[in-house]
Amino acid sequence: MTGTTSSTDLFSRAQQVIPSGVNSPVRAFGSVGGTPPFLTSAKGALLHDADGNEYVDLVGSWGPMILGHADERVVEAVREAAGRGLSFGAPQPGEVSLAEEVVSRIAPVQQLRLVNSGTEATMSALRVARAATGRDVVVKFAGCYHGHVDALLAEAGSGVATFAMPGSAGVTAATARDTVVLPYGDRAAVRALFAERGAEIAAIITEAAPANMGVVPPREEDGTGFNRFLSETAHAAGALLISDEVLTGFRASREGYYGVDGPRGGDDAWAPDLMTFGKVIGGGLPVGAFGGRADLMGLLAPAGPVYQAGTLSGNPLATAAGLATLAGLDDAAYETLGSASRTLQQLVADALTTAGVPHTIQTAGTLFSVFFREEPVRGYEDAKTQDTAAFTRFFHAMLEGGVYLPPSAFEAWFVSTAHTPEILDRIAAVLPAAAAAAAGGR
Ligand SMILES: *Cc1c(COP(=O)(O)O)cnc(C)c1O
Repeated sequence: MTGTTSSTDLFSRAQQVIPSGVNSPVRAFGSVGGTPPFLTSAKGALLHDADGNEYVDLVGSWGPMILGHADERVVEAVREAAGRGLSFGAPQPGEVSLAEEVVSRIAPVQQLRLVNSGTEATMSALRVARAATGRDVVVKFAGCYHGHVDALLAEAGSGVATFAMPGSAGVTAATARDTVVLPYGDRAAVRALFAERGAEIAAIITEAAPANMGVVPPREEDGTGFNRFLSETAHAAGALLISDEVLTGFRASREGYYGVDGPRGGDDAWAPDLMTFGKVIGGGLPVGAFGGRADLMGLLAPAGPVYQAGTLSGNPLATAAGLATLAGLDDAAYETLGSASRTLQQLVADALTTAGVPHTIQTAGTLFSVFFREEPVRGYEDAKTQDTAAFTRFFHAMLEGGVYLPPSAFEAWFVSTAHTPEILDRIAAVLPAAAAAAAGGR
């Protein structure tokens, strides 16, 4: 590194006028310590900060930059859209094309509405589910993150996990009462809850494959996947299943995680009733979306009684970025992603094994994360037992060597199609020292 003077200066200025100096908590490096680099530009798999340091990026803006940064096709689409007007507050063709692309990829989605963030998407999907069922209670799983929706912050992953917060202050007791949190993957707990309170439950919401406590793929039992089990259990009680694919959508596979564990030819069909998207669907601009069965989506205003709106929803720059990103995500792109992901997993596993650092790597399609503990992680309680101190040493050694990891042990690592073999070689060169650093403090 060539120094951190400019970032340090920017961080101290930021802390005067922005709470903790950041606009989203994990960015503050609170759990790993130190000063976050202030980034000034990015291209492909590389980031540049205000001090002239270069990093190989494994955050990818937490998912959206799946084609790498400043991809020519995406930038050109946005530039072209910008020249035609930044926002109309009226229907525009890009909204139709983006919705058509999603509907064509994701079988359970018959209709889609665009919003500005994943948080808005899950909040709105919950509202639809409650309206459709006339019920209040929502079931979520510990360690699953669905954005900062009041009702969904209890035992959430991501930043809530990073900072070991139980939920959030400022959420009313009434809201918290309507949310039931169960251990992820615990079918007995789901059955028991539905036996007791099934008639009160509007919906189960789950990440299609949890990735905000690290990646914890849903497990099969007796030949039935967990998501399918949730769908059947909810439906038997007149409740709905909301599958949150804000992170996994268009990343885990071409059809998201539903493309991994949804029905195949010959299988009995099952489907979530509502699904939520974000991150990749905006290609780096602020976009979220929720969609699903046409009868449920038909409850939305103006035709239906469920109010939901947005001044900038369906923004032409955002839809241009999303469309160009999805257009770049053909089968070859997913092969590249999958291969980069597998290569990196192997490099990390080899380095940590050589250094004697207990670890386990878990995947969901092309998505993966590294846990600093030996045994598989099945849920939030397991995830919390990892050696976060070892991760912190590893993180700083990687950063020092020019590799920018998520600044938390509870996050997925994000590769892009711009993570070429040469880029992976650069990561490989830093891994032995980082693995030794991780081992060092034990
Ligand atoms: C990131 C995320 C969200 C929230 O999206 P924002 O755009 O940050 O509001 C919701 N659900 C999941 C699964 C996510 O990973």
